[in-house]
Amino acid sequence: MKYDVLIIGSGPAGLGAAIYGARAGLKIAVFDKSPISGGQVLTTYEVDNYLGLPGISGGDLSEKFRQHADALQVPFITEEVVEIRVEKDTRYIVTSQATYETRTIILATGAHHAKLHVKGEQELAGMGVSYCATCDGAFFKKRTVAVIGGGDVAVEDAIFLAGLCKKVYLIHRRDELRAAKSLQKKLFALDNVELCWNETATEIFGEDCVEGIRLKNTKSGEASELAVDGVFIAVGINPETELFQNIVDMDEKGYIIAGEDCKTSCEGIFAAGDIRKKQLRQIITAVADGANAIASVQNFFHS
Ligand code: NAP
Repeated sequence: MKYDVLIIGSGPAGLGAAIYGARAGLKIAVFDKSPISGGQVLTTYEVDNYLGLPGISGGDLSEKFRQHADALQVPFITEEVVEIRVEKDTRYIVTSQATYETRTIILATGAHHAKLHVKGEQELAGMGVSYCATCDGAFFKKRTVAVIGGGDVAVEDAIFLAGLCKKVYLIHRRDELRAAKSLQKKLFALDNVELCWNETATEIFGEDCVEGIRLKNTKSGEASELAVDGVFIAVGINPETELFQNIVDMDEKGYIIAGEDCKTSCEGIFAAGDIRKKQLRQIITAVADGANAIASVQNFFHS
């Protein structure tokens, strides 16, 4: 059986493509290694900028996306993709269990958290070092934690943790946050959050679990130490594109080069969502990419 389009990834971009593909009557399926759809949205505490659904939790939004795809009877294949191959008019998706034939592929594998690369980060991962406040925050109830970063995720995490923890330090390497102003306003109103400006972490330390963090001031060079029970690292994301390295062109950071039409350098292969080189990585722009990718798939069939 040959599919019209196979979609890899079931975050907002993958599911956006899935509902447009299903409604266009295309023979589609969505691959994800996890049976739970949502991608990064799943670990977001609150989403306040998705049109029409202000303040919805990441979990609820993901569920709505999946329900929409299920209502259109989109088939999901829970298998890990290990390779994609292109041969003349056919493209192949190889998983750990089977090989699937398709006319086109939409890559929508999203992104994963970046590492800080400091001493103690790897050694204490899972023992106080975390990359997901909504997943691990409950372990730090009434305790003291640090969040590192100055983007949307760091500020959202700090706000979420402030509701659980006794004290939250937000450590940022500059004196201005990158996060949306609306999030900053919420953050600055919290009295158990302390901002540590112009500070970088040089080490996370502790015997069997996190006991503290060593900092260096980026302006004065002064070293200091904070006693904390947990460290939440939110210093950006890296695209999940390693598998596609020899198939499509990418920039130096591994983002796939494709315009708004989601067309990559390889005919019949499209890139949607956070993996695409673009200006704004948001849920709403990922969903829009999914729709655009299907429009490009249809143009490809008619060209
Ligand atoms: P981000 O916007 O890239 O921010 C990363 C932050 O980490 C920046 O403040 C950066 O500092 C800091 N940083 C990077 N490397 C560092 C290092 N080695 N040491 C210390 N600090 C470091 O990443 P993000 O917050 O993970 O967000 C990722 C994307 O998802 C963004 O496009 C964001 O807008 C989007 N997002 C959207 C929503 C939504 O739609 N509601 C929610 C969450 C996230 P500098 O500021 O100095 O560069």
